[in-house]
Amino acid sequence: MMGRPPRRDVTFARRATSAWAFGAALAAVTIGLAAPGPALGWGRNAHRAATRVAESRLTPEARAAVRELLEPGESLVDASTWADENSRNIPGSANWHFVNVPIASPRYTPADCRGNCVVSRLEEFRRILADRNAPRARRQMALRYVVHLVEDAHQPLHVGDRRDRGGNNVQLTFFRDDFTNLHQVWDSGLLREGYRGERALADALFDLARLPAARDWTKGGVEDWVNESLEAARQAYKVPGSGETLRSGMRIGREYEEANLPVATRRLAQAGVRLSEILNEALMPPRKNAVPAPHFPRPGQSRPVPTPPPAGIRGNG
Ligand SMILES: [Zn+2]
Repeated sequence: MMGRPPRRDVTFARRATSAWAFGAALAAVTIGLAAPGPALGWGRNAHRAATRVAESRLTPEARAAVRELLEPGESLVDASTWADENSRNIPGSANWHFVNVPIASPRYTPADCRGNCVVSRLEEFRRILADRNAPRARRQMALRYVVHLVEDAHQPLHVGDRRDRGGNNVQLTFFRDDFTNLHQVWDSGLLREGYRGERALADALFDLARLPAARDWTKGGVEDWVNESLEAARQAYKVPGSGETLRSGMRIGREYEEANLPVATRRLAQAGVRLSEILNEALMPPRKNAVPAPHFPRPGQSRPVPTPPPAGIRGNG
């Protein structure tokens, strides 16, 4: 007789939870509602849409390695939100999603990171991912974090800070939302206002990633990306059309969206393109280490026009 797939058994076991476990889960939900955890970066649609751009640009070798490292049925797009969904189970990991750089600083310095921020963690996870001798479980977790943290590093308010937890302490009204803050506006508010769901956002990202200007995005590294985020954060803190800084109690809407939605969209498109480069390089087969991956030539070589992805993989609504 054919055995049931193991995943089904797991599901069944979870359903047969004791009253105690149910109570504990309910308590966790209740606590979650009463005291929401810190904002951990772009919302779900943003991560998923940016990852679709990256996924469409993977080399066949990187694509195969991703399939091998992730669980059956888990796509790279699914993996992109794993770090947020599991942050409570990984003590201390909340700091890995951002770096607080004072908004008046000219640029990021390692002193901002103190060895435990999105910059240092991204480098560490990238090393583990590229290490073929590392255990599969470690590389699997590294892959999930690399995807997520490349994207978080592109969120301007995961970098720029005015001693207000990256805008989390700036309480605002954004359109009809009276109970939001500047950080949340950037994580999800702007994108929710601008795009009708993940597919529409992904379409916008694919359009940007196809423009000739996108070819310049692949220069530089993590520190350059956070410096771009810092620059964008300086504008994010401003009342549009004036030099005034946003303060708690203010109301923002259409004007703020017009000034900042294009920035948020571009940041996500950049994250997607750069993520594909990182994955293609880290997951290159050893025998090809000496030559560049086929569609990511070294400086000086010409770059072929990227193939547009088939419509079917551009979003799931
Ligand atoms: Zn995050």
